[in-house]
Amino acid sequence: MLLKKNEGLTRHIDFKINSPNFIFALHSNHTVASHYQISMTTLELEARLDNLLSTAQIETADINIFAPIAEREECPICLIPLPINVKEITFMSCCGKRICFGCTCKHAVTDVKNGAPLDEHKCAFCQQIVKVTAKIHIKRLKKLMKKNIPKSFIQMANRYKTGTDGVLQSDTRVLEMYIRAAELGDTEAYCMIGSYYHDGVVIGHDMSKALEYDEVAAKKGCIPAHKRLAGFHGRNGNIRVCMKHLKVAACAGDQDSMDNLMNAYKDKLISKEELTQTLHAFQASNNEIKSEDRDDARVAKARFDEAEQTGSN
Ligand SMILES: [Zn+2]
Ligand SMILES: [Zn+2]
Repeated sequence: MLLKKNEGLTRHIDFKINSPNFIFALHSNHTVASHYQISMTTLELEARLDNLLSTAQIETADINIFAPIAEREECPICLIPLPINVKEITFMSCCGKRICFGCTCKHAVTDVKNGAPLDEHKCAFCQQIVKVTAKIHIKRLKKLMKKNIPKSFIQMANRYKTGTDGVLQSDTRVLEMYIRAAELGDTEAYCMIGSYYHDGVVIGHDMSKALEYDEVAAKKGCIPAHKRLAGFHGRNGNIRVCMKHLKVAACAGDQDSMDNLMNAYKDKLISKEELTQTLHAFQASNNEIKSEDRDDARVAKARFDEAEQTGSN
């Protein structure tokens, strides 16, 4: 229950996490599993999850959760940190690399200029054809999973989630994919597991475990985990903690968190000095991920979307 003085904050804390990879919605529509049954499989899953959590908690015991996010994964082509918006990153099922849309777009345009049909443009990293049938795509993912590439498990989880590309829908399999990805060191997988505890899908609803998973993810540098923790603490009236999580995410370049802090400043929840410092760090992080190719790709994408829109009207 929020205190009255925090009403302004709850009005403004409105996260828009548009990633297709995540089930981050703060107010999830998922129903708590009424079909939840204790089975060996569930018990086994829960034991594996408890083990995963305690190992990660030991690993991150000395990390300050509010420390700035230091490491950022780079695009293997341009060597610039990857964009924050996951829609601007392409996972290549051919080689398992995550490539920024600036490089993907530039490479595709060069291929087409050199006479390749649009459907046959090649991966900027390994030169294999990008667009393949669903069957080959799944075959490629399975090959990467055998090589223990963490993000290939996240990709496969997305197929299990929606039951696409010839994969049967299964929430249990989604969770298993996240567990494996987390075991292999994928930071965001911890946050996704947190959503499962939050929503009570497959495993029982357990808010304290959801928070513990989010905290581990946040300590490992996961921006969405900081945003979720900010939402949780904001709703529970822990405004200072909420602001601190928003600051970490904003300093790493997250636009939603920066917008929320601007509104928090208007509501006198943070000082001008705090806002200014955060804004500088936010701009520095965004300058770090800027490139001409990414700007060009953004313009090309906007043109493409506009053409699609006109075509469909
Ligand atoms: Zn790049
Ligand atoms: Zn490739």
